[in-house]
Amino acid sequence: MSANEKMYYAYSTIDDIRNKGEYGGVVTTILKHLLESGTVDAVVGVEEGHDLYDAVPCLVTKPENVIKTAGSIHCGTLNLAKFISKYLDGCRDMKIAVSCKPCDAMTIRELIKRGKIIADNIILIGVNCGGTLPPIPTIKMIRDVYGLDPKKVVKEEISKGELIIETEDGEKKAFAIEELEKDGMGRRENCQRCNLKIPFNADLALGNWGVIGSLDGKATFVEVLSDKGAEILGDVIDEGLIEVEEPIEKGIEIREKINNALLNASQAKKDVDYCGTTGDIIDVFYKYDEEFSKCMKCYGCREACPLCFCEDCCLEAEGPEWVPGGYTPAAPFFHLTRMVHMVDACTNCGQCSEVCPCEIPVSKVWNTVNNKIREVYGYIPGFDSENRIPFTEHSSKAKKL
Ligand code: SF4
Ligand code: SF4
Ligand code: SF4
Repeated sequence: MSANEKMYYAYSTIDDIRNKGEYGGVVTTILKHLLESGTVDAVVGVEEGHDLYDAVPCLVTKPENVIKTAGSIHCGTLNLAKFISKYLDGCRDMKIAVSCKPCDAMTIRELIKRGKIIADNIILIGVNCGGTLPPIPTIKMIRDVYGLDPKKVVKEEISKGELIIETEDGEKKAFAIEELEKDGMGRRENCQRCNLKIPFNADLALGNWGVIGSLDGKATFVEVLSDKGAEILGDVIDEGLIEVEEPIEKGIEIREKINNALLNASQAKKDVDYCGTTGDIIDVFYKYDEEFSKCMKCYGCREACPLCFCEDCCLEAEGPEWVPGGYTPAAPFFHLTRMVHMVDACTNCGQCSEVCPCEIPVSKVWNTVNNKIREVYGYIPGFDSENRIPFTEHSSKAKKL
């Protein structure tokens, strides 16, 4: 047992899973066990689509098929929260386990608070995330900057400030991530300012950061974050499916160091992104007015946003000029209306920017306003919190007036 009692090095005892899954195959083993034991009806994850740059969400109901979610997809930019809330009806009629990045976990938690996902019916198996790469620009970057064949890439990793790309021939090349990102490459823009890299809001947080010594590359660092998580890990250990060892103290420090380095880089990016605006709504809209004027009102951002969930959306109303809807290009009111409906909940997941055909930095805009809400109301989306959801009741300040 670990000295810490909450942190472990772990690896699967099932050979084919240990070989295909990364770092000991722990995520896959846990998910398979949850299905086999009937704890859940289905597992949600991502599988390879057209190629390794194409992450497709999948619902797995047979334990033998969980293996298809093992291993890494190079560009897992999807947010699974919408898949669960919209297409699985918030898991109202089924219990599921989901393998999730921190932003998936944040968005799922936020949707739970807003009654769109049933908390008792979902298990969050979180995985660390240093950032995800946009598929097409990444293929181009690998070919043109790294001089490697994108089809031969088997692994990419961010380590010690470098984005390392490795091919099946054992060729390895690295460039400073900061330099790549200055030139518009590297991680998605929202990932560059993300402030949750270890999913502390999941039931279990897993990843390779901090695994050193003889298990380096062969095991996963597991942190237990809830009673549900403790029970699940206890079960797989008791069943002999997972072996655990106490983590090396230095490894725990390294994990924390990696996390802090990534968070510091995110803060630096935020300082740049928020520069020139106080975060107040009028200020932000004034700053991005020109960008918004390019909007062709395709509704893509609304459709992609996991936190935009009204069935009857007022943005589709026809009417006079000041009414959102009706006209193209969209009046600023279109975006103001959408903002009022979701900005307190925005988790910086980046889906809106991903789909915008006019390359409007929508995620950056909403994240700027959301950050101001965090500052004023102390409300951080995506965490279980005693705090009330902003704008649902009067603040204590307002009551005093
Ligand atoms: S927003 Fe954060 S958690 Fe989500 S993919 Fe980017 S870095 Fe990972
Ligand atoms: S506004 Fe954009 S970044 Fe924010 S939650 Fe919606 S899709 Fe994600
Ligand atoms: S996705 Fe872009 S173009 Fe489409 S409505 Fe949203 S901001 Fe406008």
